[in-house]
Amino acid sequence: MKRLLVIGYGMTAHRLVAEVRARDGGDRWQITVLGEERHGAYNRIGLTDRLRGVEDADLKLETQEDQGLRILTRTRAAEIDRPARQVVTAEGERLPYDALVLATGAVPARPPLPGAELRGCYVYRTLDDVNAIRRAAETAPGKRAVIVGGGLLGLETAEALGRHLGVRPHVVEAAPHLMPAQLDPTAAELLAAGLSRRGIDLHPGRALQSIDAGRDGTVSGVTLTDETRVRADLVIFTAGTRPRDDLAATADLPRGERGGYLVDEDCRTPDPAIWAIGDCAAINGRRTGTVAPGYHMATTVAGHLTDNPTPPPPLSPAEPSTVLKLPGVDVASMGNPHATGEATVELTYTHTAPAPRYAKLILDPEANTLQAAILLGHPTAYPRLHALIGQELPAPAEQLLT
Ligand SMILES: Cc1cc2nc3c(=O)[nH]c(=O)nc-3n(C[C@H](O)[C@H](O)[C@H](O)COP(=O)(O)OP(=O)(O)OC[C@H]3O[C@@H](n4cnc5c(N)ncnc54)[C@H](O)[C@@H]3O)c2cc1C
Repeated sequence: MKRLLVIGYGMTAHRLVAEVRARDGGDRWQITVLGEERHGAYNRIGLTDRLRGVEDADLKLETQEDQGLRILTRTRAAEIDRPARQVVTAEGERLPYDALVLATGAVPARPPLPGAELRGCYVYRTLDDVNAIRRAAETAPGKRAVIVGGGLLGLETAEALGRHLGVRPHVVEAAPHLMPAQLDPTAAELLAAGLSRRGIDLHPGRALQSIDAGRDGTVSGVTLTDETRVRADLVIFTAGTRPRDDLAATADLPRGERGGYLVDEDCRTPDPAIWAIGDCAAINGRRTGTVAPGYHMATTVAGHLTDNPTPPPPLSPAEPSTVLKLPGVDVASMGNPHATGEATVELTYTHTAPAPRYAKLILDPEANTLQAAILLGHPTAYPRLHALIGQELPAPAEQLLT
């Protein structure tokens, strides 16, 4: 049997292994997975549920180890020895491969600011991170937290800390409004009003100047660029990630301009035995940071490894699509809502009663084909419009929003 080695045991590696085994029947590939975390694969996109009281075990993604599959947790790959076709672990063990898939994900950005390494500062990517944040929130004397980044992850974290752990959250966002990648100013303003009513303090248009220490050397608060001081026991960084591509240097593999292992449309690096999928991959230089494209890459590579290279159905033109996962707050964005201009037609709908609602639909110049949308307060319209992105509207746009 040939040896398939997978580095990283996150969401896309889990999908890859399942797909290879389903297609291969365990006949061709002997699979070994190396994961540096102490847990097996889990549902990373559901991590915030841990702050809401869900148990670690409920986030687990099931995999059955057997003769054809070995999973080594707490094992970090430190080097790829391409001439020998071996991966060297941090403990110095050498593991041979016939095919190697890099699925090492991404690391959260920690701003290079005074105080960013103080006790009380947290990044948010792993189950261990969220458990550490949970413990700190439960014991925080002042019950105040600053969340750096007003994107999807920052807002989810703020809401969960406030509602479930009794912590007063402050969200700092350097861009002029919340969720700048997904929303326009009108939608962001309505969202901000709703979040403020839920006790979340918002500081858009301001960045951090410093993170300040108290007398005991732990975090006591932050100073913003407009000199505002916000007291806090915890500071949580949720402002972006960068691809985890550090093995490229050990193997002389190229990286994309904005990081990530550089791969072609088939997710293959210039070395035909090495592939990269998920957040660590940069397809023709383009990196992604969400699950749907990562699963698509996993399916593509599984097809090649099992001699069934028929490409999977193309990713939905609705990607990137985003739903803010807060109970009672229905905000969604699909396609690229910032791709506006002369080549598009924009339709906007605003209702103030009985509750604020807003929709922006972006159509082609003939106003027939839906290209992107922003929805606030339209929960039932989301699946309908998501399925229609890239297609002609079957009915007047307003009817589709009801
Ligand atoms: C809280 C949270 C909420 C999110 N919500 C959403 C959402 O709603 N929708 C969405 O689409 N996306 C969401 N994302 C992003 C999504 O989780 C990622 O896109 C997805 O997990 C990427 O999968 P991956 O397999 O590429 O990387 P990961 O899931 O990050 O897995 C990579 C794994 O590789 C391990 N690793 C790295 N280097 C090595 C090494 N050298 N040796 C061994 N192991 C290594 C890492 O420790 C990690 O366990 C969210 C992310 C977070 C943190």
